[in-house]
Amino acid sequence: MKIHTIPPDPDQQPTVPSPFGFYFDGRLTQPRFRCQACGQLIDNAHKAILLWNDEDPSIGRRIERRTERGFVFPVLVHKACRHPKIDKLYPLSMELQTALIYVLNNCGMTGEKLQQAREICGLLSEL
Ligand SMILES: [Zn+2]
Repeated sequence: MKIHTIPPDPDQQPTVPSPFGFYFDGRLTQPRFRCQACGQLIDNAHKAILLWNDEDPSIGRRIERRTERGFVFPVLVHKACRHPKIDKLYPLSMELQTALIYVLNNCGMTGEKLQQAREICGLLSEL
């Protein structure tokens, strides 16, 4: 198995291009996250963390990753896969469990809409 590593050069994209994708487990295709350090699926949001750096002006190209709309792209790793080198490059962090709640709220997925989505997921999982 190929081990994916976050490059020491912060101007490069991580070896795993995106932590989010659709994963086929042999039976179902499901939206999943994977660790950008080890490449393994993230099965527990409590054990993963998003790391980013939006304040280092000495690395101009990193700032260029920010789009005109203000996006900064974090890396997603298992907490167990954190390394001092990664933490130095990406000093800001948010646990995945917290980030997911922000994403749901920012997409208007609260209350009844969230419950409806849960029910649809339940139905799809039974197919
Ligand atoms: Zn990992």
